[in-house]
Amino acid sequence: MPRIYLKKVILSKQVRRADFLRFMPARQKKELLKQASGLRGKRVAHINAVADGGGVAEILASLIPYLRSLGVESDWYSINPDVGEKFFKITNKIHNALQGAPVKINNREWADYKQVSRRIAAELDKIDCDVLAVNDPQILLAGHYAHLNKHKIYFSHIDTSSVFKPVWKKLVPVIKLYHRIVFSNRDFVNGSLPGRKVKIFTPAIDPLSPKQKIVPQKEARLYLKKHGGIPTRCPLIAQISRFDIWKNPAGVIQSFRIVQNTYPNAQLVLVGFNTAKDNPTARVVYKDIAAVASKSRDIFLFFDPKGKDVLEFTVMAQNAADIVVQNSTKEGFGLVVTEAMWKRQAVIGGPASGIRKQIRNGKNGFIVKSPEEMAQKIIFLLSRPTERKRLGNSAKKTVLENFLFPRLVLDHLKLYRSCLK
Ligand code: UDP
Repeated sequence: MPRIYLKKVILSKQVRRADFLRFMPARQKKELLKQASGLRGKRVAHINAVADGGGVAEILASLIPYLRSLGVESDWYSINPDVGEKFFKITNKIHNALQGAPVKINNREWADYKQVSRRIAAELDKIDCDVLAVNDPQILLAGHYAHLNKHKIYFSHIDTSSVFKPVWKKLVPVIKLYHRIVFSNRDFVNGSLPGRKVKIFTPAIDPLSPKQKIVPQKEARLYLKKHGGIPTRCPLIAQISRFDIWKNPAGVIQSFRIVQNTYPNAQLVLVGFNTAKDNPTARVVYKDIAAVASKSRDIFLFFDPKGKDVLEFTVMAQNAADIVVQNSTKEGFGLVVTEAMWKRQAVIGGPASGIRKQIRNGKNGFIVKSPEEMAQKIIFLLSRPTERKRLGNSAKKTVLENFLFPRLVLDHLKLYRSCLK
């Protein structure tokens, strides 16, 4: 029977284990190889909603080649977009409800969700695997119906700490039946889930991904001049993240104005490409910021991805800046912070909990609580290149030891083995 509801994601990327083992401390490396050899001959199937776009697809695109390189047979399937808008409309409501939005799902919609989930499950049953890894709530029910005797893991990539109860009540019995439930952050775990099943996998960046490319600053500045019109010779401060109120770009502009009293030739770049198909909130935030920034020739905003190579521009901005700031007041983790730290940037972060997990104030970056404090740290660092270097080197070490993909792969291997034991 041809697959209708699921499609296999074909990955052209191949990884050699030597490419990433070099990033691992000796003990971690030994442990990784041991866990991998214990899984030889076992098959893992990962399922998620969409094959491209979004953080989950990005994780799987890196994870699967790593697992394969370690001899763990792994495949990735996603829902065929042809399954229909109706299904995705319902699952989008479920997704929002799990993050706390009050949504209405009527009986007809629940029935449709169940019916399509049964069909997805029938196709899942035909996939040969020892462990079934379900990512995203879209497949929660299908994963529940499928492979009744197999080990199943639910990866919740979202914050379920304050769910919309009427929807949660329907789904929580299903979630509880999974063998393990994985979150990226302890704060995201809903209190009604059984603690013994819950695991936390801290996010990580893939050092082999083009996103993490290290480029000499001079080259990156030339790129920004060519593709963004940013002069090369002035001190450059950058925040690289979506235009979102919780990322607080307005606060960055406020502190930049203070910095300009000491460094009148400083430049600020805010990169937040609007790559989501439909994100009206980002547009509103961007418009407000653009209105404020229009008074200054030294502030450069990048929002519309048209005509830009978003990946390359983002990477170049991370490499080009003299100082990277991430002024978030709310942040689950903040991969942009990790990415900049990996590029040896001295990052000045806002007080959000995700940023505090990565930056230890004064050791590998700074944490600030106000625009004035941010300005003070920017001025301090602009005048002290050696201090910038010290913090940047320490930041790189922090990422290497804690937030790099091989560590996440080890988390996965240990989990699969614990399921199979
Ligand atoms: N990003 C990008 N271009 C941009 C802004 C962000 O490629 O203009 C990427 C960034 O490199 C990171 C991700 O989007 O990998 C954002 O992840 P993060 O955890 O920092 O924040 P989120 O947007 O998920 O809240």
